[in-house]
Amino acid sequence: MIYDVSMTIHPEMTVYKDIPAKKPVFDTLSTHHTGSAHEGVVTMSLHTGTHLDYPLHMIAGGGVSDDTIPDGLLGPVKVCTVTEDVIDREVVEACDLKPGDVVFFKTRNSEVDFFDFSFVYVDESGAKALQAIGVKGVGLDALGIERSQPDHPTHKILLGAGIFILEGLRLKAVRDGHYELICLPLKIVGVDALPVRALLKTREPNN
Ligand SMILES: [Zn+2]
Repeated sequence: MIYDVSMTIHPEMTVYKDIPAKKPVFDTLSTHHTGSAHEGVVTMSLHTGTHLDYPLHMIAGGGVSDDTIPDGLLGPVKVCTVTEDVIDREVVEACDLKPGDVVFFKTRNSEVDFFDFSFVYVDESGAKALQAIGVKGVGLDALGIERSQPDHPTHKILLGAGIFILEGLRLKAVRDGHYELICLPLKIVGVDALPVRALLKTREPNN
């Protein structure tokens, strides 16, 4: 079984804080009436829908995308359901993670399609706990991994430690457990985020 846990990109899709300028703009360069081929154009923030953040997003002078696939995007992932409103140290520790794990937190965020201004997020203590465990990557079912924290400590702690951040996951259909993650960012170099298509594949019983 394969679950597509990516957001669908379309002109009216949910964007961070409902900011109109963040909506993707769909256009047509040429049609079969105006030219010999149909050619579409989409103009959008690289943080649209399901995407990977790179360090530059929150750290001045931080790293940017290159032509490689970050370690952990193809391999095992643990989905951990969280019922709390904040993913703090205690919540992280309850997920029983090991060094090198990739974890996706499934929260009430996955239940709604509109932008919830009080979305569940990873707070500073949660980020420090993830860093202490030594996870490879963290995914969340919100368009931001944190909110209401001046100076964005969660982004800075995780990205500064080389832990990847995947935002905008849709995990409603997925249950707790272990999966294979198949997630590929677009091969665009030198930028602070990249849209991805993320799939979760159920693992064979003997795996
Ligand atoms: Zn982002």
